[in-house]
Amino acid sequence: MKPAMMEYYAPTRLDEATTLLAEAAENGGKVIAGGQSLIPMMNFRLVRPPVLIDLGGVAELTSMEATDSHLSLGAMVTTATITSSDLVRRNWPLLAHAATWVGHDQIRNRGTVGGSLVHADPSAEMPAVMLLADAGLEVRSATGSRTVDAADFFWGYMSTALEEDEILVRLTLEIPPPGTRWGFCEFAQRHGDFAEAGAACLLPPGGQPRVVAFGAADRPFRATETESVLLAGPAVDAEKLRRAASEDAAQAEVKDRTKVRLLGTMVQRAIAMARDQQV
Ligand SMILES: Cc1cc2nc3c(=O)[nH]c(=O)nc-3n(C[C@H](O)[C@H](O)[C@H](O)COP(=O)(O)OP(=O)(O)OC[C@H]3O[C@@H](n4cnc5c(N)ncnc54)[C@H](O)[C@@H]3O)c2cc1C
Repeated sequence: MKPAMMEYYAPTRLDEATTLLAEAAENGGKVIAGGQSLIPMMNFRLVRPPVLIDLGGVAELTSMEATDSHLSLGAMVTTATITSSDLVRRNWPLLAHAATWVGHDQIRNRGTVGGSLVHADPSAEMPAVMLLADAGLEVRSATGSRTVDAADFFWGYMSTALEEDEILVRLTLEIPPPGTRWGFCEFAQRHGDFAEAGAACLLPPGGQPRVVAFGAADRPFRATETESVLLAGPAVDAEKLRRAASEDAAQAEVKDRTKVRLLGTMVQRAIAMARDQQV
Protein backbone atom coordinates (compact mmCIF):
# COMPACT_ATOMS: atom_id res chain seq x y z
CA MET A 1 0.00 0.00 0.00
CA LYS A 2 1.09 3.62 -0.55
CA PRO A 3 0.81 6.42 2.02
CA ALA A 4 -2.23 8.68 2.07
CA MET A 5 -1.85 12.07 0.35
CA MET A 6 0.06 14.67 2.32
CA GLU A 7 1.68 18.06 1.90
CA TYR A 8 5.49 17.89 1.86
CA TYR A 9 7.93 20.57 3.00
CA ALA A 10 11.72 20.51 2.83
CA PRO A 11 13.09 23.31 5.04
CA THR A 12 16.81 24.06 5.07
CA ARG A 13 16.91 25.88 8.42
CA LEU A 14 15.90 24.67 11.85
CA ASP A 15 13.79 27.75 12.63
CA GLU A 16 11.88 27.15 9.38
CA ALA A 17 11.25 23.55 10.43
CA THR A 18 10.01 24.48 13.92
CA THR A 19 7.70 27.16 12.45
CA LEU A 20 6.25 24.68 9.96
CA LEU A 21 5.79 22.10 12.71
CA ALA A 22 4.10 24.65 15.00
CA GLU A 23 1.45 25.12 12.30
CA ALA A 24 1.13 21.46 11.34
CA ALA A 25 1.40 19.57 14.65
CA GLU A 26 -2.14 20.37 15.79
CA ASN A 27 -3.56 18.39 12.84
CA GLY A 28 -1.11 15.49 13.14
CA GLY A 29 1.68 16.89 10.94
CA LYS A 30 5.07 15.25 11.55
CA VAL A 31 8.72 15.60 10.79
CA ILE A 32 10.44 12.87 8.81
CA ALA A 33 14.11 11.95 9.34
CA GLY A 34 15.42 8.76 7.69
CA GLY A 35 11.88 7.47 7.14
CA GLN A 36 12.89 3.91 8.09
CA SER A 37 10.16 3.63 10.72
CA LEU A 38 7.74 6.36 9.64
CA ILE A 39 7.38 5.37 5.97
CA PRO A 40 6.46 1.73 6.73
CA MET A 41 3.87 2.98 9.25
CA MET A 42 2.49 5.38 6.63
CA ASN A 43 2.44 2.65 3.99
CA PHE A 44 0.37 0.48 6.32
CA ARG A 45 -1.80 3.55 7.07
CA LEU A 46 -1.05 3.19 10.79
CA VAL A 47 -0.34 6.94 10.69
CA ARG A 48 -1.61 9.49 8.16
CA PRO A 49 0.18 12.78 8.75
CA PRO A 50 -1.46 15.40 6.52
CA VAL A 51 1.83 17.33 6.50
CA LEU A 52 5.40 15.97 6.38
CA ILE A 53 8.35 18.19 7.21
CA ASP A 54 11.56 16.64 5.92
CA LEU A 55 14.58 17.34 8.15
CA GLY A 56 17.00 15.96 5.54
CA GLY A 57 18.04 19.43 4.31
CA VAL A 58 18.65 20.99 7.71
CA ALA A 59 22.45 20.93 7.76
CA GLU A 60 22.83 22.03 11.39
CA LEU A 61 21.22 18.77 12.52
CA THR A 62 24.04 16.66 11.08
CA SER A 63 27.03 18.13 12.89
CA MET A 64 29.19 16.17 15.34
CA GLU A 65 31.56 17.72 17.86
CA ALA A 66 33.70 16.66 20.80
CA THR A 67 35.28 18.70 23.59
CA ASP A 68 37.55 17.27 26.30
CA SER A 69 34.49 16.24 28.27
CA HIS A 70 31.51 15.83 25.93
CA LEU A 71 30.50 14.31 22.61
CA SER A 72 27.61 15.98 20.86
CA LEU A 73 25.68 14.67 17.87
CA GLY A 74 23.00 16.32 15.75
CA ALA A 75 19.73 14.38 15.66
CA MET A 76 20.07 13.76 11.89
CA VAL A 77 23.40 11.94 12.16
CA THR A 78 22.79 8.56 10.55
CA THR A 79 23.41 5.26 12.28
CA ALA A 80 25.95 4.39 9.56
CA THR A 81 27.93 7.56 10.33
CA ILE A 82 27.98 6.61 14.01
CA THR A 83 29.46 3.20 13.19
CA SER A 84 32.26 4.65 11.05
CA SER A 85 33.06 8.01 12.64
CA ASP A 86 36.53 8.26 14.21
CA LEU A 87 35.20 10.96 16.52
CA VAL A 88 32.58 8.58 17.92
CA ARG A 89 34.86 5.52 18.01
CA ARG A 90 37.53 7.44 19.90
CA ASN A 91 35.26 9.06 22.47
CA TRP A 92 32.32 6.64 22.76
CA PRO A 93 33.40 3.26 21.33
CA LEU A 94 30.37 1.56 22.92
CA LEU A 95 28.03 3.83 20.93
CA ALA A 96 29.83 3.02 17.65
CA HIS A 97 29.68 -0.70 18.48
CA ALA A 98 25.98 -0.64 19.47
CA ALA A 99 25.10 1.13 16.20
CA THR A 100 26.45 -1.85 14.20
CA TRP A 101 23.58 -3.89 15.70
CA VAL A 102 20.90 -1.59 14.23
CA GLY A 103 19.13 -3.33 11.33
CA HIS A 104 21.05 -3.74 8.08
CA ASP A 105 23.23 -1.47 5.88
CA GLN A 106 20.23 0.06 4.11
CA ILE A 107 18.52 0.91 7.41
CA ARG A 108 21.71 2.31 8.96
CA ASN A 109 22.47 4.41 5.85
CA ARG A 110 19.19 6.32 6.11
CA GLY A 111 18.00 5.87 9.72
CA THR A 112 19.08 8.58 12.15
CA VAL A 113 19.96 8.59 15.82
CA GLY A 114 17.26 11.20 16.52
CA GLY A 115 14.63 9.20 14.64
CA SER A 116 15.46 6.12 16.66
CA LEU A 117 15.19 8.01 19.97
CA VAL A 118 11.85 9.62 19.09
CA HIS A 119 10.45 6.38 17.67
CA ALA A 120 11.35 4.85 21.07
CA ASP A 121 11.10 1.18 20.23
CA PRO A 122 11.96 -0.59 23.53
CA SER A 123 14.20 -3.03 21.62
CA ALA A 124 16.21 -0.31 19.91
CA GLU A 125 19.90 0.11 20.67
CA MET A 126 20.26 3.92 20.55
CA PRO A 127 17.79 4.68 23.38
CA ALA A 128 19.57 2.12 25.58
CA VAL A 129 22.95 3.75 24.95
CA MET A 130 21.56 7.25 25.63
CA LEU A 131 20.17 6.03 28.95
CA LEU A 132 23.51 4.41 29.79
CA ALA A 133 25.31 7.68 28.94
CA ASP A 134 22.75 9.76 30.82
CA ALA A 135 22.70 11.88 27.66
CA GLY A 136 21.13 15.32 27.50
CA LEU A 137 18.58 15.55 24.68
CA GLU A 138 18.04 19.08 23.38
CA VAL A 139 14.61 19.68 21.89
CA ARG A 140 13.35 22.79 20.20
CA SER A 141 9.99 24.29 19.22
CA ALA A 142 9.02 27.60 17.62
CA THR A 143 8.74 29.09 21.10
CA GLY A 144 11.91 27.84 22.81
CA SER A 145 14.21 24.98 23.67
CA ARG A 146 14.82 22.67 26.61
CA THR A 147 17.09 19.77 27.48
CA VAL A 148 15.60 16.50 28.67
CA ASP A 149 17.72 13.87 30.43
CA ALA A 150 17.58 10.50 28.69
CA ALA A 151 16.27 9.04 31.98
CA ASP A 152 13.16 11.25 31.65
CA PHE A 153 12.74 11.00 27.87
CA PHE A 154 11.46 7.45 27.38
CA TRP A 155 7.96 7.11 28.83
CA GLY A 156 6.98 3.67 27.56
CA TYR A 157 6.35 1.73 24.36
CA MET A 158 6.94 4.27 21.54
CA SER A 159 6.15 7.08 23.91
CA THR A 160 8.47 9.95 24.87
CA ALA A 161 8.55 13.30 26.64
CA LEU A 162 8.65 15.11 23.28
CA GLU A 163 5.71 17.49 22.67
CA GLU A 164 4.02 17.34 19.25
CA ASP A 165 5.48 20.69 18.18
CA GLU A 166 9.03 19.87 19.31
CA ILE A 167 11.99 18.66 17.26
CA LEU A 168 14.84 16.67 18.78
CA VAL A 169 17.89 18.67 17.80
CA ARG A 170 21.01 17.35 19.51
CA LEU A 171 22.26 14.77 21.99
CA THR A 172 25.17 15.37 24.32
CA LEU A 173 27.02 12.56 26.06
CA GLU A 174 29.66 12.93 28.74
CA ILE A 175 32.84 11.18 27.61
CA PRO A 176 33.72 8.34 29.99
CA PRO A 177 37.04 8.75 31.87
CA PRO A 178 40.11 6.99 30.42
CA GLY A 179 40.33 3.37 31.51
CA THR A 180 36.53 2.93 31.58
CA ARG A 181 35.61 -0.61 30.61
CA TRP A 182 32.52 -1.19 28.48
CA GLY A 183 30.41 -4.03 27.16
CA PHE A 184 27.39 -4.42 24.91
CA CYS A 185 25.51 -7.58 24.09
CA GLU A 186 22.14 -8.43 22.56
CA PHE A 187 20.23 -11.46 21.40
CA ALA A 188 18.17 -11.32 18.20
CA GLN A 189 16.73 -14.17 16.16
CA ARG A 190 18.87 -13.04 13.19
CA HIS A 191 21.57 -10.38 13.04
CA GLY A 192 19.82 -7.11 12.15
CA ASP A 193 16.50 -8.01 13.78
CA PHE A 194 15.33 -6.02 16.77
CA ALA A 195 16.77 -7.38 20.03
CA GLU A 196 14.79 -9.86 22.11
CA ALA A 197 16.91 -8.67 25.01
CA GLY A 198 20.15 -6.80 25.42
CA ALA A 199 22.44 -5.14 27.94
CA ALA A 200 25.16 -2.52 28.01
CA CYS A 201 27.55 -1.54 30.77
CA LEU A 202 30.11 1.13 31.59
CA LEU A 203 32.59 0.40 34.35
CA PRO A 204 34.68 3.51 35.12
CA PRO A 205 37.86 2.88 37.14
CA GLY A 206 36.92 3.40 40.80
CA GLY A 207 33.59 4.98 39.76
CA GLN A 208 29.90 4.11 39.75
CA PRO A 209 29.16 1.21 37.38
CA ARG A 210 26.23 1.75 35.01
CA VAL A 211 24.22 -1.06 33.47
CA VAL A 212 21.22 -0.73 31.16
CA ALA A 213 18.95 -3.50 29.90
CA PHE A 214 16.67 -3.26 26.87
CA GLY A 215 14.31 -5.26 24.70
CA ALA A 216 12.44 -6.90 27.53
CA ALA A 217 10.30 -4.15 29.09
CA ASP A 218 8.34 -1.24 27.61
CA ARG A 219 11.48 0.93 27.62
CA PRO A 220 15.20 0.54 28.38
CA PHE A 221 15.94 0.56 32.11
CA ARG A 222 18.88 0.95 34.52
CA ALA A 223 19.78 -2.37 36.19
CA THR A 224 20.48 -0.83 39.58
CA GLU A 225 20.72 -4.11 41.55
CA THR A 226 23.35 -5.33 39.12
CA GLU A 227 25.15 -1.99 39.43
CA SER A 228 25.30 -2.44 43.23
CA VAL A 229 26.78 -5.90 42.87
CA LEU A 230 29.38 -4.56 40.44
CA LEU A 231 30.59 -1.95 42.92
CA ALA A 232 32.77 -4.75 44.31
CA GLY A 233 34.51 -4.95 40.87
CA PRO A 234 33.77 -6.65 37.54
CA ALA A 235 34.97 -10.11 38.67
CA VAL A 236 31.69 -11.01 40.37
CA ASP A 237 30.28 -14.47 40.98
CA ALA A 238 27.98 -15.43 38.05
CA GLU A 239 25.17 -16.60 40.36
CA LYS A 240 25.16 -13.24 42.21
CA LEU A 241 24.92 -11.41 38.91
CA ARG A 242 22.10 -13.65 37.67
CA ARG A 243 20.08 -13.02 40.85
CA ALA A 244 20.67 -9.26 40.66
CA ALA A 245 19.62 -9.16 36.99
CA SER A 246 16.46 -11.13 37.89
CA GLU A 247 15.60 -8.54 40.53
CA ASP A 248 16.20 -5.73 38.05
CA ALA A 249 13.89 -7.46 35.57
CA ALA A 250 11.21 -7.86 38.25
CA GLN A 251 11.45 -4.17 39.13
CA ALA A 252 11.04 -3.28 35.45
CA GLU A 253 7.96 -5.57 35.35
CA VAL A 254 9.43 -8.02 32.84
CA LYS A 255 6.86 -10.83 33.08
CA ASP A 256 8.07 -13.27 30.44
CA ARG A 257 10.30 -15.88 32.18
CA THR A 258 12.30 -16.52 29.00
CA LYS A 259 13.10 -12.83 28.70
CA VAL A 260 14.12 -12.66 32.36
CA ARG A 261 16.61 -15.50 31.83
CA LEU A 262 17.80 -14.02 28.52
CA LEU A 263 18.34 -10.65 30.15
CA GLY A 264 20.44 -12.26 32.91
CA THR A 265 22.62 -13.88 30.25
CA MET A 266 22.96 -10.62 28.28
CA VAL A 267 23.99 -8.72 31.42
CA GLN A 268 26.62 -11.36 32.23
CA ARG A 269 27.97 -11.33 28.67
CA ALA A 270 28.14 -7.52 28.53
CA ILE A 271 30.12 -7.53 31.78
CA ALA A 272 32.39 -10.31 30.51
CA MET A 273 33.01 -8.28 27.34
CA ALA A 274 33.91 -5.25 29.49
CA ARG A 275 36.94 -7.12 30.82
CA ASP A 276 38.54 -6.73 27.35
CA GLN A 277 37.18 -3.36 26.13
CA GLN A 278 38.50 -0.09 27.41
CA VAL A 279 37.96 3.58 26.45
C1 LIG B 1 13.80 -3.85 8.49
C2 LIG B 1 14.11 -2.90 9.62
C3 LIG B 1 14.94 -3.33 10.64
C4 LIG B 1 15.25 -2.46 11.69
N1 LIG B 1 16.04 -2.92 12.70
C5 LIG B 1 16.34 -2.10 13.72
C6 LIG B 1 17.15 -2.54 14.81
O1 LIG B 1 17.64 -3.67 14.85
N2 LIG B 1 17.39 -1.66 15.81
C7 LIG B 1 16.88 -0.39 15.81
O2 LIG B 1 17.12 0.36 16.75
N3 LIG B 1 16.11 0.05 14.80
C8 LIG B 1 15.83 -0.76 13.77
N4 LIG B 1 15.04 -0.31 12.76
C9 LIG B 1 14.51 1.07 12.84
C10 LIG B 1 15.51 2.08 12.30
O3 LIG B 1 16.62 2.19 13.17
C11 LIG B 1 14.88 3.46 12.15
O4 LIG B 1 15.73 4.16 11.32
C12 LIG B 1 14.69 4.31 13.36
O5 LIG B 1 13.94 3.67 14.33
C13 LIG B 1 13.97 5.60 13.00
O6 LIG B 1 14.88 6.49 12.49
P1 LIG B 1 14.54 7.33 11.19
O7 LIG B 1 15.59 8.37 11.07
O8 LIG B 1 14.33 6.43 10.06
O9 LIG B 1 13.17 8.05 11.65
P2 LIG B 1 11.80 8.22 10.86
O10 LIG B 1 11.28 6.91 10.45
O11 LIG B 1 11.91 9.28 9.84
O12 LIG B 1 10.90 8.81 12.06
C14 LIG B 1 10.50 7.99 13.14
C15 LIG B 1 9.64 8.84 14.09
O13 LIG B 1 10.44 9.81 14.75
C16 LIG B 1 10.01 11.14 14.46
N5 LIG B 1 11.24 11.92 14.31
C17 LIG B 1 12.32 11.58 13.59
N6 LIG B 1 13.32 12.45 13.79
C18 LIG B 1 12.83 13.38 14.65
C19 LIG B 1 13.40 14.54 15.25
N7 LIG B 1 14.67 14.92 15.03
N8 LIG B 1 12.61 15.27 16.09
C20 LIG B 1 11.33 14.91 16.32
N9 LIG B 1 10.76 13.81 15.80
C21 LIG B 1 11.51 13.05 14.99
C22 LIG B 1 9.16 11.02 13.20
O14 LIG B 1 8.18 12.05 13.15
C23 LIG B 1 8.54 9.65 13.38
O15 LIG B 1 7.45 9.74 14.24
C24 LIG B 1 14.72 -1.13 11.70
C25 LIG B 1 13.90 -0.70 10.65
C26 LIG B 1 13.59 -1.56 9.61
C27 LIG B 1 12.71 -1.06 8.49
